[in-house]
Amino acid sequence: MEYSKDMAEYEGYPSSIVKPASESEVIRVVRLADRTKSPIVARGAGSSLTGAAVLEGGIVLDMRRMNRVIKVDAINWYVQVQPGISLDDLNIELRRHGFFFPPDPASSYICTVGGAIAEGSGGLRCVKYGTMKDWVISARVVLANGEVARFGEPLPKNRAGYDLLHLLVGSEGTLGIITEAHLRIIPLPATTPRRLLLALESWDSVGKVITMLRRSAIVPGLLEFLDRQHAQAINAKLGHNLEESEATLIVDIDEPDLNEAVGIFKACGAKEIRIAKDEEEADNLYQIRAMALLAVKSLAPASQVEDVTVPLDRLEEFLTRLRQVAIRHKLRIPVMGHAGDGNIHPIILYDSDSATSKESASKAFEEICRDAIRMDGSVSGEHGIGTQKIKLFREQLELHEGKEALRLMKEIKRIFDPKGIMNPGKYVEAA
Ligand SMILES: Cc1cc2nc3c(=O)[nH]c(=O)nc-3n(C[C@H](O)[C@H](O)[C@H](O)COP(=O)(O)OP(=O)(O)OC[C@H]3O[C@@H](n4cnc5c(N)ncnc54)[C@H](O)[C@@H]3O)c2cc1C
Repeated sequence: MEYSKDMAEYEGYPSSIVKPASESEVIRVVRLADRTKSPIVARGAGSSLTGAAVLEGGIVLDMRRMNRVIKVDAINWYVQVQPGISLDDLNIELRRHGFFFPPDPASSYICTVGGAIAEGSGGLRCVKYGTMKDWVISARVVLANGEVARFGEPLPKNRAGYDLLHLLVGSEGTLGIITEAHLRIIPLPATTPRRLLLALESWDSVGKVITMLRRSAIVPGLLEFLDRQHAQAINAKLGHNLEESEATLIVDIDEPDLNEAVGIFKACGAKEIRIAKDEEEADNLYQIRAMALLAVKSLAPASQVEDVTVPLDRLEEFLTRLRQVAIRHKLRIPVMGHAGDGNIHPIILYDSDSATSKESASKAFEEICRDAIRMDGSVSGEHGIGTQKIKLFREQLELHEGKEALRLMKEIKRIFDPKGIMNPGKYVEAA
């Protein structure tokens, strides 16, 4: 059943599914959940990769009927929107008005505004534009007691009170149900950046590209990387003809001329530099990256998608350790990610029918997270915690002087949701 899984196959069987068409319908269901102490979770497209969107034995609110763009404000540069619209549909509408909403998880073709806010999602363009938290300016929320609150103001500047809005961003459905949001928008860029594909023979070269671009103050609009296993899977499954080199980078450069950037890529040993000749080719390169996860997942009966972040200057060191984890556990772990943010997605491939393979995958998963923690990184850059990373999230906070922060987070959850009905048993509450 659609509602019993997310896109990483985390499972939970709800007792009821409700598809509200308005905020007042959300309020009625939340009040019922409050009275009966029934667990309740909001759900967008269910594209979460951490178990955040599934619930055992409670009410699932499918928010996708609430999918209207209420207002595009071309003076104040915001869009007022319902939570159930997908990010791609939002951008299609904004384009008609000459505007653009930059955050773009690779799932933007399905994932919803509400899901992306609740996950604090990132994506491919974060290196230049930041993540969801940088673009939400206000939200209406149905709280656990059925009362409605608005957090934030649709203003460019506002510092009245504690920042409850940003508590909501990344709250994974545990603090309230988002029924409306104001999002910052910007005019469509006057010029289209040039998109390039680079084939590099070592991870060392990837590190050099990042360092040299930063030293030259060139801010790429996109800086994505794929390893050889991804290139092979993309060629085999999606019919492309990528050079199957150690590392492939997809880069957007906004500079008026490409010479300086191309000089850097050559100096870093790029053996192929393909410059997209038109919008169609540029879009193809983007789609290669957006579909990479699906291509690689199809190589094995099961996979576990990782999402760690490490300091940019330790990326290469982390990737070397990652290779050792794969060898130690005799697993294939293709890797890709948002190189410009140090946000890495190792995909642990395993055989779900083999107990040994499953156990190796789970050990590798924990070792990868612990390596990131030890290197001053984080167990999640954008996918969140859900049920997948509760233990590792706690370990991170304990090791990074966050014990008191965790205690405060647990208090906050209790204040927002004293009966513990909002997406219970996950994330902060369970850590
Ligand atoms: C192929 C693929 C690629 C991906 N790439 C990226 C990527 O590049 N970057 C990235 O950050 N993520 C990525 N993801 C993860 C996922 O798509 C994002 O987290 C996405 O924003 C989730 O949106 P959704 O609508 O599917 O939310 P769901 O999965 O339905 O829900 C996610 C969480 O949000 C909560 N939620 C949903 N709607 C509401 C609401 N209205 N009010 C309160 N809480 C709500 C749910 O309770 C749940 O906790 C990817 C996933 C896939 C399958």
